[in-house]
Amino acid sequence: MNDGTKAWLRAAYREFYFRGGERIEFPDNVASREFGYIPFGGGMVRHLSFKSKGEAQAEILKQSPSSVYCSNARYEYPARPIDEKGWMGAELIFDIDATDIPTTCKRGHDLWYCEKCHASGKLPRPEKCTKCGGPPAEFHGTCETCLDAAKEHAKRVVGFLTKDFGVDTGAIRVYFSGNRGYHIHVFDGRFESLDSAARGEIAEYMIGSSLPPSNTIAASIRHQRQTGPQGAGWTRRITKYVDERRQSYSGTLQKLVSEGIASSRALVDSSVTTDIHRVFRLAGTLHGNTGMCKMRVENIEKFDPQNDPVVLSSKPVTIKVEFYPRFRLKHQDFGPYTKPETVGLPTFAAVSILTRGLGEVV
Ligand SMILES: [Zn+2]
Ligand SMILES: [Zn+2]
Repeated sequence: MNDGTKAWLRAAYREFYFRGGERIEFPDNVASREFGYIPFGGGMVRHLSFKSKGEAQAEILKQSPSSVYCSNARYEYPARPIDEKGWMGAELIFDIDATDIPTTCKRGHDLWYCEKCHASGKLPRPEKCTKCGGPPAEFHGTCETCLDAAKEHAKRVVGFLTKDFGVDTGAIRVYFSGNRGYHIHVFDGRFESLDSAARGEIAEYMIGSSLPPSNTIAASIRHQRQTGPQGAGWTRRITKYVDERRQSYSGTLQKLVSEGIASSRALVDSSVTTDIHRVFRLAGTLHGNTGMCKMRVENIEKFDPQNDPVVLSSKPVTIKVEFYPRFRLKHQDFGPYTKPETVGLPTFAAVSILTRGLGEVV
């Protein structure tokens, strides 16, 4: 990324923070949180603390960085090194990313490409570029299919929280991550003091990785006298799924149980949930790889991840694109750009290409 592109991106982000600064959603106890940011073209700056929202907001506008982060933990001394911070508790957080959910669409939009000769192809990435032998890079895209899958898994997380863990709907906030998924924040005091291992158990429960093998579950269903949905939690999900389909199903009971698990589990990234010292993208700020806003999702059914979080302007800019697959934003299709070319794009679309280092402002 050259200096001209860095300056242009920073100006585009600054324009958003100048007029959209009040969209930033600070957590409670701002003074007890650790903040961090990544400047355009730079490395992570961590262990920052601010006395108030106003002070934090002024610094964000001043820096207009590529990414802004804030801890879900509260600390006695948020600016000190990790082991001296004095951990006081952390909100429970779940991360759903389209990349982690198996969908067949990825074959179409996840590619490798060569920065040297601009050859590209489907994943898995070859060790060397098939044309020139140079080092190939990976590109992970999105489409309606995988974004819908991410939304479905985010809804399942909310289902587990409310039905299985008794969390009040009002204590759950769902955010679009600004890229490929959703962050679910739980503001319920019962979870705040949980350590990493306990949080991991909750994540494993949602993923279904702590369930008995499907043949064991199938055997216990086979031995039951009663039919219909039974019990609570996973037992209820599986018995309900099986009961609704068993009559017309031609496969084995074990296969039906496996399908029931696959259609109910939420593929959360457990490494995110268990990290109690993490800094997360701050809600209401822009994603460093897309220019889209990490935003609160009030109505997940109606939420359109390719339109609603697109907050940067439509002001045209001329850029030289190296490579970029087709993408869709604000009901418009862009690309694919398979060889270097100079194109005019609206700011919101150009940002995706520039922030990934796949183009420069001309
Ligand atoms: Zn090549
Ligand atoms: Zn997709």
